[in-house]
Amino acid sequence: MITVSAIETGKARMKTAQRVGAEGRGAIGRKIDIFRDRHWVEPLPILCFLIEHPEGRFLVDTGDTWRNSVPGYLPGWHPFYRQVQIRVAPHEEVGPRLLARGIDPATEIDAVILTHFHHDHTGGLDHFPRSRIIGPRANFAVSRGLRGMLTGCLPQRWPVWLSPELVAMDGPAVGPFPASRPVTRDGRILLVPTPGHVDGHVAVIVRGEGVTWFLAGDATYSQANLLAGQTDGVTNDPATALATLRAIRQFAAREPTILLPAHDPQAPARLAAGAVLA
Ligand SMILES: [Zn+2]
Repeated sequence: MITVSAIETGKARMKTAQRVGAEGRGAIGRKIDIFRDRHWVEPLPILCFLIEHPEGRFLVDTGDTWRNSVPGYLPGWHPFYRQVQIRVAPHEEVGPRLLARGIDPATEIDAVILTHFHHDHTGGLDHFPRSRIIGPRANFAVSRGLRGMLTGCLPQRWPVWLSPELVAMDGPAVGPFPASRPVTRDGRILLVPTPGHVDGHVAVIVRGEGVTWFLAGDATYSQANLLAGQTDGVTNDPATALATLRAIRQFAAREPTILLPAHDPQAPARLAAGAVLA
């Protein structure tokens, strides 16, 4: 038996122009739109997902950290970080959330899977000093150093022990996805490439009995965006982001799929109700 649970680790707000990039606008224009935009969306959840599987406990993404609001935590020289507001209380971090469920993050999570290395997905890594940390090799390559800091990653805040198990998408095609990477021996948890939001982004597919969970990370911010074919404002590659949205829809047309993006306020309710993507 496989179960998937949503864990909310605080809230993030972004500009409306980040949630949805203007159609026909290129990567640079979209970023200018975000800086000019004076409208903020409502606070969105920062979600992680716990997968309990016969082979172990897997956590997808780790949310952000209360330290995000400590002066000096974010690079003050980079205006991008002022375009997102993170609000996380200490007890909302993923570690305390797991403890509240009776799971010790330091010893009882077998593997953490990162969809990508943006700060609101890696901020809780400190809670897992002894877990396998699995991440996409192609995204890690663009998330380190100055390049990473310029694009929403905080490599200078990663735990000093972080040495992720970097994986390539070199397994067989899965439906519309040209490649994959199995995580479990039974093949029921696997990664597929979902580039666009950032290079090398991956989504996690979990195949249960009669239903498939699609843990989308930031491949789309919401099911509404997916259905409307709306890509986000931070992508460097809108055409690739759009192709990923199409692939997710094609995938969901082939098997009953519950879509679980990392910042979709409706995701926990869909998960609880078993509401599949039509
Ligand atoms: Zn992201």
